[in-house]
Formats: sequence, structure tokens, C-alpha cells
Amino acid sequence: MINESLVQLGGRLRTREVSSVELTTAFLERIARLNPVLNAFITVDRERTLAQAREADARLGRGEGGPLTGIPVAHKDIFCARGWRTTCGSRMLSNFVSPYDAHVVERLAGAGAVCLGKTNMDEFAMGSSNETSHFGPVKNPWNTAMVSGGSSGGSAAAVAARLAPGATGTDTGGSIRQPAALCGLTGLKPTYGVVSRYGMIAFASSLDQGGPMARSAQDCALLLNSMSGFDPRDSTSLERPAEDYSRGVDAARDPDRPLVGLTVGLPKEFFGPGMDADVAAAVEAAIAEVRRLGAQTVDIGLPNMELSIPVYYVLAPAEASSNLSRFDGVRYGHRSAQFDDLMDMYCRTRAEGFGDEVKRRILIGTYVLSHGYYDAYYLQAQKLRRLIAQDFVAAFRHCDVIMGPTSPTVAFALGARSADPVQMYLSDIYTIAVNLAGLPGMSIPCGFGGHGLPVGLQIIGNYFDEARMIEVAHRYQQVTDWHLRAPAL
Ligand code: GLN
Repeated sequence: MINESLVQLGGRLRTREVSSVELTTAFLERIARLNPVLNAFITVDRERTLAQAREADARLGRGEGGPLTGIPVAHKDIFCARGWRTTCGSRMLSNFVSPYDAHVVERLAGAGAVCLGKTNMDEFAMGSSNETSHFGPVKNPWNTAMVSGGSSGGSAAAVAARLAPGATGTDTGGSIRQPAALCGLTGLKPTYGVVSRYGMIAFASSLDQGGPMARSAQDCALLLNSMSGFDPRDSTSLERPAEDYSRGVDAARDPDRPLVGLTVGLPKEFFGPGMDADVAAAVEAAIAEVRRLGAQTVDIGLPNMELSIPVYYVLAPAEASSNLSRFDGVRYGHRSAQFDDLMDMYCRTRAEGFGDEVKRRILIGTYVLSHGYYDAYYLQAQKLRRLIAQDFVAAFRHCDVIMGPTSPTVAFALGARSADPVQMYLSDIYTIAVNLAGLPGMSIPCGFGGHGLPVGLQIIGNYFDEARMIEVAHRYQQVTDWHLRAPAL
């Protein structure tokens, strides 16, 4: 049962072949056994979870179940969930119990999904390896000496290790796609504004976007159907008609060549030096498969993409320094036990509550926003951001989707990049531009590289083209089985 897709599990629940309590218990037992090794969850609350499962069973018993009713889903600990400790991977919030639900949590609960627990993450979603978490690193289920990727590493490891059949994540510069690639999953970052950020603890508000992490594209579509939708409480939430993101996964007109008519853009900037040979081989084989399915490929250019890391590391810290100013020991979470006066309380609280990477970002962000540097750094970065977005607009005149690697390497060893922040930042070289442009992107498993570690293929869509990305990924997953492989645990 633990290897079944959300679609299969939903079917079994609705026919009452299995109850939500049984299904949820199976996952809770795996969590109890494997979480001590993987550290994928920060908080598990068996009773709270089982109470939700019983409620789902009651709904199913009345014949009221939808596609997700009774299905256990893990939430990244960046999403506020009522009654649950919500830490954002930080000491600052280590004692914070949320009094309300994030929009995403509310939507999934409304659909009948059961909250399995809160997953580990880089502190305030800053990182690419899940090593900045106050709660310790997450281990990669394929090889526990390796990182899970980040910042949604707990969600990725949980789904890969079959501790959860699906999970939520957030992606500011790659944090859904990169851990999905490193753990062998399917993960999708929607177009900016499709998923409400209400109750999702803010890192860089103009880039942050929640999305699903699951084993297949079809399962991601199912989760996204519930997670998306207008929310007046987020001023950047978009008011659009509801969509069925799985509408493209039905029978293809031409089953042998279902991708006839699709043009895939291959940016030369994605295939140059920098990508490891094992990753390049798997990605190129995947693109050959996509061609066999009938798609055409064209070479394209994204000339300003090389600026995406420097631009991101001005803008994201600038927004973070502002967003994190609310953690002052008065309103939320941790407060230093000893202090002289108010100013001293602020200083000690923040010195104790935040880890090194978060402090580094606050310093950079405050610097680039300060008088005299604002024009030189922040404003300049905003202009370059526009140029990066325009590159994509130009590219999508020649293609329907863009493909390339998600990460330049497979999962690296724990500790390997911790001492060198720039080395760590380069882990997101292929994903960050997508956030700067506000586009949707996904990562799907496409093979294995060195040491038997998974490789991810990145698919980037035009604005609001999630359904097409999902269809393309699904066609590929119909003829390959990378997404079905499981680590031996
Ligand atoms: N690794 C990037 C960072 O550290 C992106 C993180 C994310 O997408 N949340 O900022």
C-alpha cells in the first residue's frame, strides 16, 4: 500500500477497501521506524493525525469522499497549521503553536486530506541541503551519508522513503524542485500567485510559492487541484477560474507518439560546463525519450540567466531582512531569558534564535537596502530581474516548454558544502531564474547518476501552463519507471 499512488489510494478509500485510519497508521508506523534515521519530520502528533483520519472515514462512510479524502499528507513546517507546532526549522519558532491554518493547509484539510506531521526544512527555507535546520539535517533515503536537498528536504525525504504518499513544499529559488531531484521525486512549483501564501511563513515574498511534492506528475496534479485557488488574504493571490490540472493525463490521441506537436526549448545555458557528466547523461537520455514520444526540440538562449544567482542573492535577502524583522521576542516564539533593556532583549533574542545562514541573509539584505547602496544593488537587481523574465518571454515564442537539468549534481555528502556559502548557492543555478520570472517549473526523476543517486529533469512552463507541464511529465512517466523506484530502507 505504501508504494501506491494518491490516485490508487483514493480509489481504495472510496470503495472502503481500506480505511483512512488503516492507511494513516501504516504511514505513522513507518515514520516511527524510519524517522530516527532520516530526520524528515520535526513534529509528529499521532493522536491529532488519527483524529483527522477518523473524521475522513466518517465522511467516506457517508459517501462524501473526494479524490483526497482520507489520504495522509505531510506539510513542510513553513505552513502554519492550527494546533500544530510550526517552527520553520528555526529555534526562533521552536515553541510556536499556530493558532490558525495556512490557506494551503485549510484547502487540503477541506478536501479531507489528513495531516501526517510537519516536515523538516532549512531554517526559514534558506538553504539547498537541509543542513541549516535547527532540528538537524535530513538524510537522503537513497544514501544516508548524503543530503536530501533543500529547503523542502524533509518533505522530499518523507515521500521518497514512503513515510508519506505526498507532501507540501515551498520554492523561493528551487526548494521544491531541487530536493525533489535529489530524492527522486516529482515536485512542482506553480506560477507565482496560483497558490496563496497566507499562513506560509514569509522568506522572500515576491518569490515564495507553495507546491506539491509526490511521486508522479498525476499525483502532483491532484494535490495542486486542492492547494491552488484565490485567497483574498494574500494580496498577490490571483483570481482565476478553477482548473483541473490533471486534465491532460487522459488517453492520448496518438498513444505511441503522444507528444506530437509539442516543441521543447533547450537553453544552451543549461547544457554548458557546470553540469556533472552523470547528470548530463541522464538528462540527455530523457530528452531523447521525449523526442521518441513525438516532441520536437529547438535550441534557445536565455542570455541573462547567468545573472540569476547574483540577482537572487540581492533580492531574496533584501526581502528576508524585512520579513524576519517581526521575530523580535515580543510577538512570536523565542525570547532570551536574560536581558538588560528592550534593545538588549531584541539583540539577544535574535542572536540566540537565528542560525548563521539566516543571520548572513539579514546582514546582506539590510546592507543592499541601506541608504547609498539601495540604487547600486537593490534597484539594479530589480532591473536585471526584469531582463531575466524577458528572456523567458522571448524563448516561449519558439517553444511550449523548456527542459534541462534541475540540479548540476546528484545529492552531495552531508557537510560537503556547509563551509562555503557560494558553493551552496550554486546548487540552485538552474532553478532560480524560474522564480525570478514567476514561471511554473517542475522536476521529475529521469535516471540515476553516480553512487546510484537520482537525477531530476526540469520542465519549465509558460505562465499558467501547469497542466501542460503535468501532461508532458505524465507521458514521460507512462513509458519510464524512474518515478516508481524506491530506496531500500
Ligand atoms: N537555496 C535557495 C536559498 O537558499 C532557495 C531556497 C528556497 O527556494 N526556499 O535561498
